[in-house]
Amino acid sequence: MIEVWVSKEVFRYDADSLVKAFFPGRVVKNYLLENVADDILRSEIRGEDTKTIVIEIKDAGCLSGADKSDLRNRFKRELYRELKQATGKDLPWGALTGVRPVRLASKLLNENTAPAAAEAALQELYFVSEEKASLAVGIAQRQREVLARVHPETPSGGVLPSYSLYVGIPFCPSRCTYCSFASYPMEKWNDRVDEYFRALKKELEFVRDIKGGEAPDTIYIGGGTPTALNEEALEKLLQLIAANIKTAGAIEYTLEAGRPDSITRDKLRIMKSYGIGRICVNPQTMNDRTLRLIGRHHSADNIRNAFALAREEGFENINMDMILGLPGETEADVKYTLDEIARLGPDDLTVHSLALKRGSAMKEEWTEEVLAGEVSEKKVPEGDISGMITLASEAAESMGLKPYYLYRQKNISGNFENTGFARPGAECLYNMVIMEEVQSLIACGAGTVSKRVSPDGRKIKRCDTPKDIEQYLSRIDEMVERKRLLFEES
Ligand code: SF4
Repeated sequence: MIEVWVSKEVFRYDADSLVKAFFPGRVVKNYLLENVADDILRSEIRGEDTKTIVIEIKDAGCLSGADKSDLRNRFKRELYRELKQATGKDLPWGALTGVRPVRLASKLLNENTAPAAAEAALQELYFVSEEKASLAVGIAQRQREVLARVHPETPSGGVLPSYSLYVGIPFCPSRCTYCSFASYPMEKWNDRVDEYFRALKKELEFVRDIKGGEAPDTIYIGGGTPTALNEEALEKLLQLIAANIKTAGAIEYTLEAGRPDSITRDKLRIMKSYGIGRICVNPQTMNDRTLRLIGRHHSADNIRNAFALAREEGFENINMDMILGLPGETEADVKYTLDEIARLGPDDLTVHSLALKRGSAMKEEWTEEVLAGEVSEKKVPEGDISGMITLASEAAESMGLKPYYLYRQKNISGNFENTGFARPGAECLYNMVIMEEVQSLIACGAGTVSKRVSPDGRKIKRCDTPKDIEQYLSRIDEMVERKRLLFEES
């Protein structure tokens, strides 16, 4: 357990994130120091093995007059220097704690900073490694090209007109141990799917009314696993969407098939007939032993078969997700997964670094065991994520896929990132616009978050729905009303 003490509330989040990044796999608790002089910033880390590391940033005078974000940046830089000195470690993303490092790169490019100078700025100001600075700037450049193709009238970095639509189906064949999403066993909810669709209908009718029939740029049906629905229910869902939204006018229509054990030829045909052009068939790993360990009740062969079926049915844009840092997996296991994925030849590959999030069985179990003293904190799966990321990037490159979007999450293994690679022309527009928050999103279904982006991109207002389906169903009218307030206000 590491305790972190800071003297100002405004530093709590950054101190917590940076300390966790320097000590992956440790339980970190943070506290506010009381009765300390305002101009002293102090971060104290106790209990790293037998040592006590105390970090004090005394020269806080330089912070006076700085605005809040400037103050946080200065604090992060100081804390980073101290942690680096105390541990002898450097972090790939340096002092950056946010989830969207590409935004910083885009901002620099939008200010007419040359790409090389933008990379240098990320390295000098935030201690980002040369490799990650080049990755972030490269992705920012690619996104500018793709978005300019889609909306040539919008200046680079501007907020895109239109909107994106997300529809959440929170059912899955079984729950993966690392999952923290809204996901309920399909088996238990089979009899109440119609009830869920009735609530969704209210939300989709709201979208139809407020958008006056305007087609969204992108539609993404995610979850959960939408293909956990049986054929009849899947068709009902797609009909419901088509009855309220101009799906034919969308630039991109994705359905996250996700779990291969839920994909059938008939479901693929239904999806195709409703205009879905992009699907995901997500292996996470191609190692059967790991699949069992993470609670997936299917084999690598199921993945191969589902992928082949999707190609046979004419899907030309198939994404595959994989996770680095799964329990017990070595670089050799990751290499095997990548080789098997390369054989299938997806158009899009999303590489995640494992994030242990609250609400996932893996996180709860691990935390309980650590607190009970049954396992060492360091037993949390870490692996050599850095080496695995290099393997994945090289494999993507050799498959002809280029990085086009990237984000980080709290508690991500080794403070790394999730990166989407795609063959040129197959980039997922939804992933880009939503991750970079350059377009408003209307999200329907349990456990979803809608975002309204102001025309100048400076303000983002959110409105979420409960993850708990019972709550979502019983409060649906209130949910629609909240969306109305969000999207109707001037
Ligand atoms: S398939 Fe996805 S949403 Fe479903 S349980 Fe696994 S991680 Fe969660």
